[in-house]
Amino acid sequence: MRRLILASTALLLVAPLRSQTPPSPASIAGRLTANALKADVSFLASDALEGRGTPSRGLNIAAEFIASQFRRAGLEPAGDDGYFQTADFDQVAASTEALTLMADANGETVRAAPGGIRFLETAGADFDGIPVLHVAIDRPGALESLAAGAARGKALVVEVPEGGRALVRRIPEMAGRLQAALTIVLGLPAMGPAQTERLRSVPATTPAAPCLIVSDAAFRKAVLAPGAKVSAHVPPPAVTPVKLRNVIGVLRGADPALRDSYVLVTAHYDHLGIRGSGPGDHIYNGANDDASGTASVLEIAETLAALPERPKRSVVFMTFFGEELGEVGSHYYAAHPVFPLSKTAADLNLEQLGRTDETGVGVRTAQYYLTGFDFTDLAPVLRQAAKPFGIRVVNDKEHNEPYFRQSDNYAFAEAGVPSTTIAVAYQFSDYHQPGDEWPKLDYDNMAKVDAAVALGVWEVASNPDAPAWNAKNPKTEGFRGKR
Ligand SMILES: [Zn+2]
Repeated sequence: MRRLILASTALLLVAPLRSQTPPSPASIAGRLTANALKADVSFLASDALEGRGTPSRGLNIAAEFIASQFRRAGLEPAGDDGYFQTADFDQVAASTEALTLMADANGETVRAAPGGIRFLETAGADFDGIPVLHVAIDRPGALESLAAGAARGKALVVEVPEGGRALVRRIPEMAGRLQAALTIVLGLPAMGPAQTERLRSVPATTPAAPCLIVSDAAFRKAVLAPGAKVSAHVPPPAVTPVKLRNVIGVLRGADPALRDSYVLVTAHYDHLGIRGSGPGDHIYNGANDDASGTASVLEIAETLAALPERPKRSVVFMTFFGEELGEVGSHYYAAHPVFPLSKTAADLNLEQLGRTDETGVGVRTAQYYLTGFDFTDLAPVLRQAAKPFGIRVVNDKEHNEPYFRQSDNYAFAEAGVPSTTIAVAYQFSDYHQPGDEWPKLDYDNMAKVDAAVALGVWEVASNPDAPAWNAKNPKTEGFRGKR
C-alpha cells in the first residue's frame, strides 16, 4: 500500500493539467483510509460532543470540525457564512407532564398516558368535549382531499398506516388548512424518550395548534368510538430563537458546459443528544447514525479533491442538521437551495456505513444497499464503479422502498431530484441507543465501501447523461417532472 501511495503521489506531481479521464481505483483506494475514517468518527461520536443534538454546543462543534475538514480539502465555501448555510428556527419546548388529553366515549373517560404522547407541533390550548373528525391516511393526498376548514372546532384524529413516518411530516400543515383545534396522530410507536423540544421554522409555516402523536391502546379505542369527545389542556410552550447550520463545500467540475450542474454527496451530522436521567449512559453518540456518513462525506471530499482528475460536473459535499427531528436540515436546504434544483443532477446520501452486523442477517461485508434501488438509473453506474473494489451494490427488495422515505434523500426526491441513500446495514442492535459508539464500526470495510462510492460519485458526475427517474416504476410518479 505504501508503494501505491508513493506511485500516485509521483503521478500527481508530474500531471500538468486536470484531465477528465476516470481516476484509477488504486489512486482512490490509496487515499481513502480506514484510519482517517476512524479519526473522524471517533471525534464526532465522542462523549465530548454530547450526542450532537439539534440544537446544541456539540452540534456546533461538529459543524466547525466539518468546515475545517472542507477547508483542508480545499473545497469552495458555498454557504452565506463561509461553509455554513444559516437557518433561523424557533426551539419550542413543551412538556407532556403537565398535559392532559382525554377521550369521552360510552359514558367513560380515558386519559392518554403522558409517556405515550409526543409533540409534532405545540401551542397552549384548552378544550372541553369537542367532537372528533376521524381520517385514515394510507397514501399521500388523503388529508389534502378534505375541504379547507373541515376540522374547524374539532379534534382531527389521523390514523397513519404502519411504516407511515414519511406521511406524518405534512400533517401539522394539513391540520392548519383544515383549521383543526387539536390534532391526534395514531398508529406510530412512541419511539425513545419523550421529546420535549421541537423546531419551528421562522416564519412559521404551520398555525399554532397542538398536534400530538399518541400511542396508548385504551385511549385509541375510546377516541375512535362513535360519538367520542375530546378534552385537552396543553400548557403554552417556551419559545427560544436558534440558528442552525448546514455545512456546504464544492469541488468545481472540469467541463465548461457541465460544471454549473451539481451532484450532491450528503449526510446528517446531528444525532439525538443527551436524553433521560438517572444512572447509566445518556449520551446518544450516533457513531454509525450518522457520524459514519459524515466522516464518509469528509473523506470522499478529501479524496476526490486530491485527485488530478476532476469530474465534469461540480460535486457538492453537504452535511445536515436536524435529521433526527424529521429531516429538518435537508428540507430547509430543498426550500432554500444554494444551487438551483433544476441544475442538481442527483443526491447521493450516506447513512450507516460503519456497522456490518445487521440485525437478523449477521455480519455481512463487501457490499452496500441503495434505497429506492430501481427508482432511478443510478444503480448500474454505482454497481460498475464498485466492482474494482470488490464491493457489491445490493437491492434489498424488502427494505429499499421504506428506507427511501426515511432519510435526507427524500427531501430531494420530493423536489424532483433523483436521489438515493447508501447504507451498509439498515438495522443494527444499537440503533438510536446510547451504545451506538465508535469502536463498534468496521473501518476497513467502510474504507472499501467509501472508495467504491467515491468512484461512483466521480462517474455520476462525469456522465454527460444526468441521472433520471425510472418512468416505468409507478412509485416514482410523485417525483417525476417536479423540476
Ligand atoms: Zn441517520
